[in-house]
Amino acid sequence: MAELDVTKILRSYGAKLTFEESVLLEPMRMLGEVIEFPQPFAVQGSIVNRDGTFLLEATASGTIEAKCSLCGTPVSVPMELEIEENLIHHPNRRMKNGNDKSEADFMYEAERDGAFVFTTHMLDISKIVGDNVFLNLPSQFFCSADCKGLCPICGKNRNKEECKCSN
Ligand SMILES: [Zn+2]
Ligand SMILES: [Zn+2]
Repeated sequence: MAELDVTKILRSYGAKLTFEESVLLEPMRMLGEVIEFPQPFAVQGSIVNRDGTFLLEATASGTIEAKCSLCGTPVSVPMELEIEENLIHHPNRRMKNGNDKSEADFMYEAERDGAFVFTTHMLDISKIVGDNVFLNLPSQFFCSADCKGLCPICGKNRNKEECKCSN
């Protein structure tokens, strides 16, 4: 968890908090492949209170470990991304009242509008960073620009050895 204490800007419009955090992300699954993040992402940016809603802007950089889409060799690629999220502070009342419909509606509407809802003075940016990393993941990874892939017949890695299957 990478939590920011946003107490200082919570009630003052226009107030800005700058931060620098390390965010360790859990492995993600994409199209059946596991994507891993060996080191924490370095995240720096700011949160501004804009009339009660909050704008988070940050840059994040880290390393992705995945497998080559053609031959399966592990690859490690750098990743850098810009993050921009609207946040809404909304103290959670559902705890007291297990099935509050208006509360559920509020959360639904806020999330449908693309806003991230946080409920205390501590803001965990791990989920925001994780969501943004996930949305920016390349759909394929390659060990090299001219990877020859696996032989579709015998399954050998054609970058490493010639097989006798072709023609
Ligand atoms: Zn490859
Ligand atoms: Zn073969």
